[in-house]
Amino acid sequence: MQMDYHTVKNLPKVELHCHLDGSVSLAALESIAAEEGNPFPTDIRKFAGMVRVQPDCGSLDDYLKCFQSILPYLQSKYALSLASFDLIRQAAEENVVYMEVRFSPISCCRRGLSCEEAVGSVLEGLKKGEKIYGVKSRALLCLMRGDTEENNRLVVETAHDMKSEGVAGIDLAGSESSFPPENYRSLVRLALDYGLKATIHAGECGSAENVETSVQMGASRIGHGIALQKDTAIRRRCAKANIILEMCPVSNFQTGASTDWGAYPFELFWKEHVPISISTDNRTVSNTNLTEEYMLLGQKYRFFDYNTMLQLNLTALEHAFIPEREKEELSAKIKGAYQTDIK
Ligand SMILES: [Zn+2]
Repeated sequence: MQMDYHTVKNLPKVELHCHLDGSVSLAALESIAAEEGNPFPTDIRKFAGMVRVQPDCGSLDDYLKCFQSILPYLQSKYALSLASFDLIRQAAEENVVYMEVRFSPISCCRRGLSCEEAVGSVLEGLKKGEKIYGVKSRALLCLMRGDTEENNRLVVETAHDMKSEGVAGIDLAGSESSFPPENYRSLVRLALDYGLKATIHAGECGSAENVETSVQMGASRIGHGIALQKDTAIRRRCAKANIILEMCPVSNFQTGASTDWGAYPFELFWKEHVPISISTDNRTVSNTNLTEEYMLLGQKYRFFDYNTMLQLNLTALEHAFIPEREKEELSAKIKGAYQTDIK
């Protein structure tokens, strides 16, 4: 269906899967570089080419390389607070009313910050963002595939310690092909025992079995889950267990999780009532935003309309890592706007 860009942009949205490091704007990175006397290694145009994924990228491992150019600028309290505030500003511009911001604190501790300081700085930026722009948010802390057991344990402990300050859960990110989910079973268990929620990147470029293993480990949400298209039985079991897939269409094509729209499983999942939501994954690295993602779906699928968009956002909200009371408030706000704002 032909949807109007400004209507899509202005309708309230919920975003569950957004990485802080992959989404900090170039302008914010420039401010950080200037403030900290840490200039970009090259001019801004070339630097933009280093942090945005290139058209010939076809693998998750290549995609992840972009982050290596960004992370040197996210190593101080100032930088992390500014980056997370900047992300909320971007969210507010397209009326995201609730957002979960994920990041790997260990990746931000290369110049002396403690894990707790890194997380505290991000939470400060998020809170400032809520105060100024009215966008609610929570942080999710990423355990990294391939990192040490000690570091990943520290992330779980920090998530536990800072739960009351705005950390809602953990994620498992990084190269899925090299590090299967079961390697992290005991750490995910520990997080759940602490009352945290878990989402796991699975079935992005790996197998449907990785998704099922992640669910058995206690993940209540799955990052991407594209590989579920390959296995009807596992897909049905996940849907029955009300596991939501956090789909990120633009990113899914860039990482090679999907290679052509005819094979992209959005329609299959939607028609089979597999719970799904739409997110950007990485606004800067993928050069996208949530409005663009919905517009793209509207262009690719004839059945996709504002009501589809409403349902996707309500499903996302239902699976958000926040208390029911907050969900009810946001749900009323979203439903009200879809009634009045669609002309
Ligand atoms: Zn992701």
